[in-house]
Amino acid sequence: MKQLISSFTAVTVVLLFSLSFATNTQPIQHKNQTSSYTNTIKKGLAKLIAFTKFKNSASTNLNDLEKYFRYRQHIALLKIKKTFNIPDEPWQQCMKGIELVKKYNKNISLKTTHSNVIHDSNLPNNLLEITKRLLHENDINPASVSIKNKVEHKNLHTHTDTTNIIGCAQAPITTINNISKLLQGDIKTTIKQNEPACIFLSKNEFNEMKPEHQYANIAHEVTHLVEDHGTELSGILYLLKLYGYDKDQIIKHPVWLAYSRTIETNANILPALKNPKIARYMKSLWGDQCKIIHPKVKKVWPKTHPSPLTLYVHLCRIVKCH
Ligand SMILES: [Zn+2]
Repeated sequence: MKQLISSFTAVTVVLLFSLSFATNTQPIQHKNQTSSYTNTIKKGLAKLIAFTKFKNSASTNLNDLEKYFRYRQHIALLKIKKTFNIPDEPWQQCMKGIELVKKYNKNISLKTTHSNVIHDSNLPNNLLEITKRLLHENDINPASVSIKNKVEHKNLHTHTDTTNIIGCAQAPITTINNISKLLQGDIKTTIKQNEPACIFLSKNEFNEMKPEHQYANIAHEVTHLVEDHGTELSGILYLLKLYGYDKDQIIKHPVWLAYSRTIETNANILPALKNPKIARYMKSLWGDQCKIIHPKVKKVWPKTHPSPLTLYVHLCRIVKCH
């Protein structure tokens, strides 16, 4: 492992997509399938019990909700390890490497003013101001993050179609020059930052939005940086590539898509858990999304994105908890 490039992606909320509310209602077959039928019932019961536990805790405690959503992401991540058959040791080393790069980004990259940061004057001033304020509220130095109107990053990990992006967040791009020293915890001399973090907002898409929806979308992008989802995604992709999988194969795989969905969900849910105003704005945004999306609309909701209806239901619960 000589070099690890950490860069980000995360397309967000894409407007005007249709959604097929697929349900998992397989017809029950009665012919000599007692054991698989029993298993189906068992799995269904387990899901029901898990959901009931979550539902009960959700009505009383925002911390439990946060644990629940982080746990979902963790489980989705472990499914990647299992599915791609990655042995324990390299997996754990990769996780440790990701944590150390995240630590570097949090404590150094996202705290330090960079001379080549751009706050694009083509973007309306209110969008720049909201973004800077939200970064500041999350202990990120706004002068360490570029805020640009257009997506320029060509190497998006999770999405191939970038035409409908309304926003995206890119982690600082870093190079690791000595992985074994890094794993010993030496982050200062082993990591070199090449490019600062960046938040892209599409001016055209944002011009069409209500102010509270602009706010919710920006909170989503800022959360990608706060959580450093980009470093996590690129670290795991790097490891899988070492094991011979190619990028296209990985990003189209159902377990990768499921993992991406938990990340996109969390970029909406985590800021809503911290801030009741964001919770209300998110709920309003996703409520509108549910209305906009109609099965007859021909476009397809991105596979990496959670169902707007599911998000809306979660957000209703969070607003109630606040
Ligand atoms: Zn996103």
